Amino acid sequence: MVLTKFFTRGALWLLAYVTVVLSPLLLVQIGGAPPRRDFWTEFSVALGLVGLSMLMMQFIITARFRKVAVPYGLDILLQFHRLISIGALCLVLLHPISLFVTRPETLALLDPINAPARAKFAQLSLYCLLLLVATSIWRRAFRLSYEWWRIVHGLLAIGVVMFGLLHALLVGHYLDLFWKQFLWTVMGITVVTMLFYVRLIKPFRMWRRPYEVVEVEPLRGDSYAVRLRPKGHDGFAYKPGQFAWLTLGNSPFAIEEHPFSFSSSAERPGEVEFTIKELGDFTSQLKHVEPGTTAYLDGPRGIFTIDRVTAPEYVFIAGGIGISPIMGILRTMADRNDSRDCLLIYASKTWDGVTYREELEQLSDRLNLRVVHVLEEPPDDWEGESGFINEEILNRHLPKDREEAEVMMCGPGAMMDAVQVALEKAGVPMDNVHLEYFTLIE
Ligand SMILES: Cc1cc2nc3c(=O)[nH]c(=O)nc-3n(C[C@H](O)[C@H](O)[C@H](O)COP(=O)(O)OP(=O)(O)OC[C@H]3O[C@@H](n4cnc5c(N)ncnc54)[C@H](O)[C@@H]3O)c2cc1C
Repeated sequence: MVLTKFFTRGALWLLAYVTVVLSPLLLVQIGGAPPRRDFWTEFSVALGLVGLSMLMMQFIITARFRKVAVPYGLDILLQFHRLISIGALCLVLLHPISLFVTRPETLALLDPINAPARAKFAQLSLYCLLLLVATSIWRRAFRLSYEWWRIVHGLLAIGVVMFGLLHALLVGHYLDLFWKQFLWTVMGITVVTMLFYVRLIKPFRMWRRPYEVVEVEPLRGDSYAVRLRPKGHDGFAYKPGQFAWLTLGNSPFAIEEHPFSFSSSAERPGEVEFTIKELGDFTSQLKHVEPGTTAYLDGPRGIFTIDRVTAPEYVFIAGGIGISPIMGILRTMADRNDSRDCLLIYASKTWDGVTYREELEQLSDRLNLRVVHVLEEPPDDWEGESGFINEEILNRHLPKDREEAEVMMCGPGAMMDAVQVALEKAGVPMDNVHLEYFTLIE
């Protein structure tokens, strides 16, 4: 699913990616290739060079460049980033293994004391990569908070590329010419600079455009509406459904920033609202945040917006706090006097915990909006839908011309996976289903 979307959207970016990743194989042929060695040695070198360029490209994929992110969206890019890491790890592992198997004498390169420097750098690069992948897959088992994980991830990534590059340069066989060494070194420095761009240049820009907290209003469902207003500037325009990275009460250079969707109307730029559910360290401190606290925003980001997906009618599916981008979309549609039909299927645990319950009723008067609540633990006198959103519930409420409607869904990952299957069974084309995942890493 992820790969299909990756291949069908932004084909030019994909072509550019494949060209850059395979370019080392072309580069070695230019300027007089050195004498050929046996097949397995050449094969092993090819694996290593392509693996290294894939790892370098990871810095560009994650540098939050808008042009790279827009065709795909953050979640697909990050899933691609994960898949590529595993792919690159396989290539980088096969690089020495194919040598060890075909030329057992090369096993001596594993000696941590007597091996030549080029082999020691290769080992260091590989250990950094193994640790990087392990800490990403088993972050919780390593007891790493999200913030510490990000620091460790960045440092290990620099280690992987720098040690890998030193290994390639010291081996030299295909990088014996000065211009080739220069080119690889520039590539290495450029990609690591991306990290500094994200951590220094961007925060500097944010620092010049601060916001302040206007109020933190408690809402149903252990959630808070956090309202911010720009301080000394006009804020920025965003599309309904997009999100921003929020830094609250800290310098913009601090490592801690969290992504939140705008729940305010995109037609009222300036003051913005985020609807945030209490979940962990950061979100449970929100109730103590005082008006006047300084905040910084990095945004707008994301492609989960009706402005990219025009349709005669919309079906919105929200689970819990997944209502926040959809609330932003509905408020915007109301401000735009949008008269298109909308259906909102909204899953909550209890009736008392339905965030924005009353405002949704009011919005139903201003929009052609039907709201279907699905409660996991309904009250005794509840006559509406209960349990989890499934095929039967969808069949009861989806519009008749369901192939025409665009479906926008946001909620817990497990819910979105199950509802996607139910939507497909209910006859909704998967191309019409747009998702916003709130989980970037487990
Ligand atoms: C595109 C997007 C939009 C989102 N919009 C909303 C929203 O409108 N309302 C809302 O309540 N939540 C939203 N979230 C989720 C929100 O970012 C996390 O719930 C929040 O960061 C949790 O932080 P914590 O320290 O309180 O919880 P923790 O217990 O530390 O983390 C819980 C989980 O949240 C994720 N997380 C934690 N810190 C970060 C971080 N700095 N960056 C990214 N993910 C992190 C991790 O998956 C982690 O396992 C959104 C997430 C994404 C990716």
